[in-house]
Amino acid sequence: MSCIFCRIAHGEIPARVVFQDDRVVAFHDVSPQAPVHVLVIPRVHVESLAASTSEQDALLGHILVTVRHVARALGVAENGYRTVINTGFDGGQSVGHLHAHLLAGRPLGWPPG
Ligand code: 5GP
Ligand code: ZN
Repeated sequence: MSCIFCRIAHGEIPARVVFQDDRVVAFHDVSPQAPVHVLVIPRVHVESLAASTSEQDALLGHILVTVRHVARALGVAENGYRTVINTGFDGGQSVGHLHAHLLAGRPLGWPPG
């Protein structure tokens, strides 16, 4: 299996997991861009948001619900956070397995680069 996030989902590569269930895994980003930087991925391999299908609509919703849950669990919900899904080349996606970033713990600038 060549996809690095599939390997994390299968426990073949270690990650600092903060939450998981039968559909998603949430773990700390290896190169954090904020004091809290967590990635939420589906267990199933989905290349990107653009490549997802209507059969995966509930899964997409569950990814956002997981972000909300993890933000509360890590104590950043009150101050706020940013949820980012980089998609494709122009979107800056570097890992070809759908993931939502949860960034928090400091005021975040806007617009992004
Ligand atoms: P993208 O640029 O595709 O939106 O985000 C990919 C993210 O995955 C980056 O923030 C990068 O630091 C993170 N990442 C890449 N490889 C690994 C890894 O092996 N473990 C973890 N925990 N994060 C990774
Ligand atoms: Zn994958």
